[in-house]
Amino acid sequence: MLSGFLFSWWLCFSPYTTQAPAPEKPVNIVLIIGDGMGLAQIALAEYLYKPPSPLAQMEVIGLQKTHSATHLETDSGAAGTALSCGVKTFNAAIGVDADSTAVKSILEMARDRGMKTGLVVTSSIVHATPAAFYAHVTSRGSYEEIAAQLVATGVDVFVGGGEKYFADRYSDGFDLVESLKKKQYQVLHLDDPRGRANLESIRKEHKIACFTALEDPIRASMGRTYLPWMAVEAMDALEKRADKGYFLMIEASQVDWASHANDQEWLALEMQDAFAMMKGVLAKVREDENTLLIITADHECSYMSLKGKRSPRVEFSTKVHSSQMVPVFADGPGAEEFLGIYENTEIFKKMKDLLGL
Ligand SMILES: [Zn+2]
Repeated sequence: MLSGFLFSWWLCFSPYTTQAPAPEKPVNIVLIIGDGMGLAQIALAEYLYKPPSPLAQMEVIGLQKTHSATHLETDSGAAGTALSCGVKTFNAAIGVDADSTAVKSILEMARDRGMKTGLVVTSSIVHATPAAFYAHVTSRGSYEEIAAQLVATGVDVFVGGGEKYFADRYSDGFDLVESLKKKQYQVLHLDDPRGRANLESIRKEHKIACFTALEDPIRASMGRTYLPWMAVEAMDALEKRADKGYFLMIEASQVDWASHANDQEWLALEMQDAFAMMKGVLAKVREDENTLLIITADHECSYMSLKGKRSPRVEFSTKVHSSQMVPVFADGPGAEEFLGIYENTEIFKKMKDLLGL
């Protein structure tokens, strides 16, 4: 009797008591978005890229449905808002719901919790996908308003084109580059040959605004090389500044543009650039066990397929976005949450829950 009591007491307090392990929680999240990067775009890179493919090394694969509140074929504004804010909205909307009410983004929630935040893109920094993470406007084309909202949001590190929407403004004539400097930003230009060295040596107290073009950055095929190394630099810079973790969104923006243009060569080089970036980010993520890496798209573009015998030949069916589901790859603490088929808005909710925001 007594031994039975002691045994059950031992079971209650023993370190060997079997309990379901608590789900792993990440300290940092890196979200990579390939704009317009559907399965066929990925397959093209898989056939062209020298193995090992970074996506083939990801632990978990799921699928997301990309439709907006108004269309099966979403645009990047509505899809970006679904990923960043967790709401389905109308096409062309940025950070507002279907009633045009502003909705807080995962980046803003992370910032409010004391986490550091970053954006690295190969479009202009005010383009729809990055804008969905910090701006709230009903029309994605309001670039000067979006630029003003980026300054107000206080993203710690951002890299992308579109400097003219800060420096040369029609709507109010304000010099937002000066505003950035007043807000403790170190403003850099990637055409400055010292740009790379500058980023590495920027003091921790400074935020980083790195402009890569006056308007849209050039294509990878025309000599744009910054995405792979700048993605890792941004992770380093955020890590250096973060006491409570960081949230970073990286976008391979021009995969979409090449698909719209039905240009196989442009697309192949953008996908190879995206793969080189993913490889570097994944290697860095695997240096510790604190960072959840998610790689997905906002939508597919051009209803693309691959044909041919030995080397892939791309067949584009349209010049617009499609309604196809797109894959979600995840690696690191919390990755298993991304198994299955779900709405794009669920990605926001999963990130929010995993960060405890
Ligand atoms: Zn597009």
